[in-house]
Amino acid sequence: MPKIWTSCMGVKSKIEFDLIPAITRKEVDAGDSRWSQYAPPWWLIRHAMGVAVILPRGIVKPPHRQDLMAYRAWYRSVYISIIPPTHEEMLSHDKILLSCFCVNPNACHRVFLAEHLTNFGASYVEEINWN
Ligand SMILES: [Zn+2]
Repeated sequence: MPKIWTSCMGVKSKIEFDLIPAITRKEVDAGDSRWSQYAPPWWLIRHAMGVAVILPRGIVKPPHRQDLMAYRAWYRSVYISIIPPTHEEMLSHDKILLSCFCVNPNACHRVFLAEHLTNFGASYVEEINWN
């Protein structure tokens, strides 16, 4: 079963990964849309940063990132709605690195996603640090 690490974008690691999916909006917008369901939309990124946004029709307002427990729970509910084949394709790799630009891993979807994927048999190893 796959092992998952997380890191801030650009961290050098001694581990060689089989998959470093584009789960950030910037990378998806840059053309790698294979994992776009895992990338937060811009309105959510702005909302999480405390910017006033107009939500898309039918979207329940997510909590602000300062309310970490609620934010994490809201994110989990989003990931639950992602269709299983996307998870299966992700989990067909052995060593997966999820990275994002956020400095704080505890408030970032990369860790929420890693935790969510443990429901499908993956194991979350750790956040890779800067040194
Ligand atoms: Zn992030």
